[in-house]
Amino acid sequence: MRFLGTGAAEGIPSPFCDCEACRYARQAGGKEIRRRTMFRLDEETCIDMGADFFQQAVEYGDFVKLKRVLFTHTHEDHLAYMLMNVRNMARVRREGPLELYLTGKAFEIADFFRKNSPICKGRVPQMEEEGIISFRKLDYFQTVQMDDWQVTPLPGNHIGNMGENSANFLLRRQDGKTMYYGLDTGWYLEETFQRLEQETAVHGPLEILISECTFGLTQGRGEHPNGHLDAFSCTALLHELLKRGILSPVHAST
Ligand SMILES: [Zn+2]
Ligand SMILES: [Zn+2]
Repeated sequence: MRFLGTGAAEGIPSPFCDCEACRYARQAGGKEIRRRTMFRLDEETCIDMGADFFQQAVEYGDFVKLKRVLFTHTHEDHLAYMLMNVRNMARVRREGPLELYLTGKAFEIADFFRKNSPICKGRVPQMEEEGIISFRKLDYFQTVQMDDWQVTPLPGNHIGNMGENSANFLLRRQDGKTMYYGLDTGWYLEETFQRLEQETAVHGPLEILISECTFGLTQGRGEHPNGHLDAFSCTALLHELLKRGILSPVHAST
């Protein structure tokens, strides 16, 4: 598994920003450069494909064997629709479409792409027919088997471009190990906490938790903020997950 980008919408250094953090990142390079969100689970599956996907493929490995993308939500830093046409232009492709998974109301963006001709020159329906891409709908709380992974999207407290709640993913491998991909999220919804508790009761605590902490040390956002977490609410979230048994103290680390 590999993080290809962890940098939220604007990335660091932000192209238009001359603040101290961005200046430092430009100078230092390396891990100080934060690309837009993308996470590779294995060769076949990734979560999100945002605005930096070209450069990420150059730096971290091509997407030739990639079969599917699980989109957390429809914000542009997570879903760069140009990826459809870029796959279309590839001369030698893996057989079968690139499966694009969208949860709940986020799936409506497929129809928006089909009907709006400025999107990829209006060729989205044709690309579906030709097997370049394929939109697939997931439902919150419904588990789907995808090769080695059992995938269950749970609603996040973060609203995307279609008015959808983001999908955070509970991912279980064949060996039973479980991880939760919690971004973008904000303070978890009660129904999400409850589902995680139920899963924990059967399968034990999470092995891995991946969380956002987007607002860093920004003060005064409250302990349970909507949309995004910060360092304080992220810490409070870890305590809440420990209290509910979703994380165990043995595995807890920040
Ligand atoms: Zn800056
Ligand atoms: Zn977002």
